[in-house]
Amino acid sequence: MPRAPFRRKSGGREANQLVRLAEGLATSKSRAEDVFWERELESAVTQHLENNDEDAINRALDKAHDAPDATFDALADMVESLTESFVLPSEAGAQRVTLFCAPILVWGRTKVPTRTIPKQQLQDISVQLSAHVFSSKARIALADYLFAPDQLPHSYSASRELLQLLSEAIRERKHFSVPTETLDEAPDVVCDMRMIVGAFQVAEGEPFYAWQEMTTPVEEARQAALLTWRTQGGNAVKPLLVGYPHELTLPRSFFAACREADLASRAYSIGASVSYLEAVTGTAPEKITATVGGCWGKGLEEYRIGFTLGDSEEVAHGCVWPLVSDEDDDTPVVDEIESLLKAANVGTVIVLDEQLPLEFCDDCGAPHFPNREGEMLHAHLPDDADTGAVHLH
Ligand SMILES: [Zn+2]
Repeated sequence: MPRAPFRRKSGGREANQLVRLAEGLATSKSRAEDVFWERELESAVTQHLENNDEDAINRALDKAHDAPDATFDALADMVESLTESFVLPSEAGAQRVTLFCAPILVWGRTKVPTRTIPKQQLQDISVQLSAHVFSSKARIALADYLFAPDQLPHSYSASRELLQLLSEAIRERKHFSVPTETLDEAPDVVCDMRMIVGAFQVAEGEPFYAWQEMTTPVEEARQAALLTWRTQGGNAVKPLLVGYPHELTLPRSFFAACREADLASRAYSIGASVSYLEAVTGTAPEKITATVGGCWGKGLEEYRIGFTLGDSEEVAHGCVWPLVSDEDDDTPVVDEIESLLKAANVGTVIVLDEQLPLEFCDDCGAPHFPNREGEMLHAHLPDDADTGAVHLH
């Protein structure tokens, strides 16, 4: 599974100590030994984070790939957990503050908006999160912006800085105003995610999610929380995305929520692509052909699904299904893609056996998608498609 969204490749040696400690933790065989390594690793990583020495951490993460199994995960888990959560001393005892994310899967005929969230809606969303997702002990503050994934902090230190700002907001019992001039432009895509980001604070050791306070089995409690968040939270979110069909996923600590949303968006984008094509071209799903092919770089990297309309050989639209690190060509991904396409009532599904190239457009960088002959083509909507945002070149 891809871990931190912003790891960079770099060389160097001074990260050896971090890798050594992570390897110790990964290969320990008792809880007692775990505690030792955890404490040492936590202290070393905290020092690097507090010094904003992100290079050492990134180098260590790169090196950890070559260390024994699970070393990378041990290090990445520690870096992520110390980035997204810290303990503050206070008169009322130690307080744990944690960054969280509430992802929304969304599609539209035109570019999905990003925007400042008006005060009243921010308050409504905050009330619903407190009531249904977080525990009765948690205090929360939100950032007042509906982010695209590309607009989230790009580094561990930037994520920690956002957490610090949100932590101040919690203390002052308000929300955090995002300076929008610092944000990157969101990419112009029709199927995407939007994120609401905030922080919660509890006294160290107290429950912070609603499902930690329930007596039903945990997964059942978590699903119940998600269901209520989808309806009640959904009503509060709706005014931000008028005209854009969307689906809320489970809010939780920052890195886990982002990863789960990435996975959920693969399945979501298949149904969304079919709905999108129907909306902009008026083609019934039964008249759509979906061609699924595996694209190979060093190994199988992703599946691409090309959609063609009626008898046309032109690819009208496509979607990408990236593989994550524990998946390969033995994983039954194609079965899942096929059943999602069938559930979306796609008339014809073709699965190509050949290995397709990982091909992109030289002009705009868009991925190419297979037609039913296995030709890799640029996706172009038909000329009469009803959308305000068609790119031609
Ligand atoms: Zn292009």
